[in-house]
Amino acid sequence: MGKEKAIVLLSGGMDSATLLWLAKRDFGKVWALSFNYGQRHAVELRYAEELARMAEVEEHIVVEIPIYRSLKGSALTDEEVEVPKEDYPQDSPPITTVPMRNLNFLAIAAAFADSLGITTLGIGVHALDTPYPDCRPEFITAAEAAINASSILTAKEKMRIHVWAPFLGMSKRDIALLGKELGVPYEKTYSCYEGTEPPCGECPTCRQREEALREIYP
Ligand SMILES: [Zn+2]
Repeated sequence: MGKEKAIVLLSGGMDSATLLWLAKRDFGKVWALSFNYGQRHAVELRYAEELARMAEVEEHIVVEIPIYRSLKGSALTDEEVEVPKEDYPQDSPPITTVPMRNLNFLAIAAAFADSLGITTLGIGVHALDTPYPDCRPEFITAAEAAINASSILTAKEKMRIHVWAPFLGMSKRDIALLGKELGVPYEKTYSCYEGTEPPCGECPTCRQREEALREIYP
């Protein structure tokens, strides 16, 4: 892909870090985009900053979305809702879902793409994320269609913006295996929903992470 440019959504967790390293391998210029949306685990932003620095991105942009603080009901942004310790429910979106999060993130990434002339938006959603509606393949397809329908680049330059989600069919373990190959510094990533240091070790994302890394870095 050589000279092409990409923006990667970077939370500071292991999936988005792996995506950033993959983007650095496959694209000429890479930007990282992180969000402060009032998440309980805003500490992840410090990790994102360090990862972006290590990956030598063109620029690490941090966008504030304070409105999420005033929305009730998500364990990630509402102080009154506890982070669950059990696995995700199979049939309904987990309490850790943040409404429209990825739609907002991709819309903002697309705004940067339009202004910077970037045609690839990378997002690290994967197979274990499917309980979240905005992490499913049908969402990615629909978001890409909406972005192209509203893009200046698309309208003016006849360019297509691609929502790049290479981990859609991959498990967390597959991602960790790829990351090992790419030399992702997993010790510099942060995944816990509680936002504590050290991580709680009990929330679903802590456990998924631990399971994925255990076999690969025994
Ligand atoms: Zn945790």
